[in-house]
Amino acid sequence: MPELPEVEVSRQGLLPYLPGQRIVNAIFRTPKLRHVIQAGLSTRISGLRVDAIARRGKYLLFDCESRHGGGWLILHLGMSGSLRLVGPATPVQKHDHVDLVFAHTTLRFRDPRRFGTLLWHEGDGVEQHPLIAVLGIEPLSPEFDGDWLYAQTRRRSAPIKPLLMDSHLVVGIGNIYASESLFLAGISPLRAANRISRERYRRLVPAIQTTLETSIAAGGSSVRDYVHSDGGAGCFQLSCAVYDRCGEPCPACGRPVRSVRQAGRSTFYCRMCQR
Ligand code: ZN
Repeated sequence: MPELPEVEVSRQGLLPYLPGQRIVNAIFRTPKLRHVIQAGLSTRISGLRVDAIARRGKYLLFDCESRHGGGWLILHLGMSGSLRLVGPATPVQKHDHVDLVFAHTTLRFRDPRRFGTLLWHEGDGVEQHPLIAVLGIEPLSPEFDGDWLYAQTRRRSAPIKPLLMDSHLVVGIGNIYASESLFLAGISPLRAANRISRERYRRLVPAIQTTLETSIAAGGSSVRDYVHSDGGAGCFQLSCAVYDRCGEPCPACGRPVRSVRQAGRSTFYCRMCQR
């Protein structure tokens, strides 16, 4: 599943090509992704210029002259979606459901499982859209720091790890990033959020940010490949310390990495190094 780093790398990969370009045509080869494709969407967006591409959580937000009579295209890659920039003669493959055609390139959305989202928000104020308004803080924003997370968790007795993955609190911290960050910060994933000190939250937040930024940087070195390639959405290989390493030696103390289920997801951690 594409995670925040993949979405951010896709965004950065599109920036040199799309802003300033007009949508010549929009082709939909399916009536429905996660949501029904809105009636008349192709007509509505054809001719509009993409002014900017923003990201909120795992949503890509295409500003299509939103302050000048246009609006926003909201795109989520879902479980299996990927974006490519292709030439006009590139053959359409089975799961290529959407083309946004520009004068010099075509943005092609492939989504085998069709859990992706493509919606139109008329006018300005995309942050008020129901899908966007419910999102928590951005993990790479300056407002997200140890003091903020400490304050938010004083009345939360749930374990810290599923809380980190709650997008109403903070967006884009997937399973792998939550496990690795908690290991880096030496915090047990099982510990109640309100039983973690301010000082430890001040270590946890930079660990989260470093983990995400490392993954973005790993993908960022191959941005052109990523948006141009015919392969699937890349899952950037972090060199994981504990994630998916059950039974292997902890890189810090050598004891076996443990695995538990939390909120239906596998958690990996070291019982010695994480308290
Ligand atoms: Zn250890």
